[in-house]
Order: sequence, then C-alpha cells, then structure tokens
Amino acid sequence: MLAPDHPDIVPPMDDPTNPATNTAANPAAPPELRTDLTETDLRERLSAEQFIVTQQAGTEPAFTGAFWDKKDAGIYRCVVCEMPLFSSDTKYESGSGWPSFFEALDPEKVTLIEDRSHGMSRTEAVCAHCGAHLGHVFQDGPRPTGQRFCMNSASLDFLAE
Ligand SMILES: [Zn+2]
Repeated sequence: MLAPDHPDIVPPMDDPTNPATNTAANPAAPPELRTDLTETDLRERLSAEQFIVTQQAGTEPAFTGAFWDKKDAGIYRCVVCEMPLFSSDTKYESGSGWPSFFEALDPEKVTLIEDRSHGMSRTEAVCAHCGAHLGHVFQDGPRPTGQRFCMNSASLDFLAE
C-alpha cells in the first residue's frame, strides 16, 4: 500500500476546463488563441495542403506557396492557432522557393526539434503554442543570426501592417 507522500504519486494536472488554472498554465498566450481544435475541426478549417504540412510534417513544393516571394510589411502567424511567429522585417530572399526568415519574432514561440527523418539530420521548427509543423531551420542564413528559418507558406497566414 502506498503512503500518501509516495514519490510515484503525481499530483493531478490542472483542470483544463477551469479558466483560472488554464490561463495560469499558459500566461503568455493571448486568450483568443485556439488550443482545443480536434482533427475534425482542423480538417474543416485548413486546406488539404495546410493540414498535411502542419499536422503531418509535410513540405509544400518549392515556389508554389503563397508567401515565398511576398515582400509586403506585416506579421506571419501560425495558420492553425494564429500565434504571431515571424515579421516581414526578418524575411529575406533565400532563393529556396520557401518563405525564409533569419529570426523568429520571439524565440520562445518557435520550438526547434532535432529531426532525423528522411535520412537527414535537420532541425525541425514547430509552433510552440499548438505544435504545428512549420518547416526547418538551417545554419546557412544571412547575418546577423546566420540562421535560415525555411518555412512552408501552408503553415502561415499573413497579417498586413
Ligand atoms: Zn500554432
């Protein structure tokens, strides 16, 4: 029989239906961000390509996306949860055919994960808020960071300034 203070007993998680604990668990997230989308919701909201890219780590063909050569001033957001991820201020022409940025708006909003799929060693970038696949990060970008956030247009939407 386990004692009440047995180290294997994990305290219960905060109740996600309780707005007080839910907000406290993620204080940085604006309240309008969606976190409760089911796969059915996502399939309804997203195009087939957006679903495959963001939920199944797909890659859109180069030079086909909506944003690879977009030069307007504005903010690129996660297409799934609308978290602001990149600014046009850090977008540059990489020649790759995918929208490329040398820096995220906030490093805490883009989670980097080692990705050894497809026989390569790469760094995957996902939305820190909802986990949507965004693209990959390479170390051949321009100054000042030397990084290239090679994103899929299908993972992003655009808010003009
Ligand atoms: Zn997201």
